[in-house]
Amino acid sequence: MSEIMKIEVGGEEKEFKMKREGKMRVLELPVKIEVAEDSFLHIGAAPSPLTEKKGAVFKVDRTPVIPATSFKGALRHQLELLFIEKIDEFAQLFNIPDNKKNLLKPCIPSPRPTKAEEELINLGKYRKKAKLGNKEIAGCQIGVDNDKIWIPKINDQNVGICPVCYFMGSAGLMGFLRFSNFYPESEGSVIDQTNIRIDRKTETAAPGAKVEGEQVKPGTVFKGNISIVISEPVLEMQGIQFGDARKIDGVIIDKWLESWRETDKKKRAKILIEEVLIPAINNIRELGGQKSRGAGKVDVGVNI
Ligand SMILES: [Zn+2]
Repeated sequence: MSEIMKIEVGGEEKEFKMKREGKMRVLELPVKIEVAEDSFLHIGAAPSPLTEKKGAVFKVDRTPVIPATSFKGALRHQLELLFIEKIDEFAQLFNIPDNKKNLLKPCIPSPRPTKAEEELINLGKYRKKAKLGNKEIAGCQIGVDNDKIWIPKINDQNVGICPVCYFMGSAGLMGFLRFSNFYPESEGSVIDQTNIRIDRKTETAAPGAKVEGEQVKPGTVFKGNISIVISEPVLEMQGIQFGDARKIDGVIIDKWLESWRETDKKKRAKILIEEVLIPAINNIRELGGQKSRGAGKVDVGVNI
């Protein structure tokens, strides 16, 4: 018997099937990415010594593909923005008191934040660098040492793993989401745009000036999946699933979920999907490179 989960998408309740993958229970969310009509898509392929081609788009078996990593990066960014924007709303939803709102702030995973990121930390949008014991860390990590579990602390407050890393994972700690690559719905979605730089003096093609660039056509639709790991054996042994705060040796690591008064496990999962994951997916408006040339505008949503 397969379990069903009802999720509200675009104002309507839709049914999604829960699948078994080995010992995991997984909810598969089909996702559609459409290249906007006034744009094109360029997700670059790594230059290869076998192809002379410059500006090629990433392909698998000659088909342009949006790699899972590109989508993942864009979703992570939107989750960060969502937790920053809706911090008050989420504090209310998850029963977090005013003096603990730090729990909801996203971390900056990079060890060397950019100037812009530093500013956002100073503005209080992102978490400051946390400490594990006396050690300063980048992003979210858990420390295990001589039977002691260390969770991230900021100003002596245990903040635990940030909500974004709960979904997306962090160094050494898996998140609850898995991503597929995204494949185009139909063939013939790549165009070649060749730009030739003209030498202004001679008005002929400058030597070595031919720049080849491939792009994915506007209107192209890509399809893929986000798998939400609802339960897996290690957590299941502790009675924990997606939507609950995780524990390691009895220490709660997802402090932001600790005070949530919702006790129905199915509802907790449903609320995280409807109030956090789907809005963040819908907020993705840009993917890939060449943005200064107008590339990368996309519409993204759950494919129903
Ligand atoms: Zn984090």
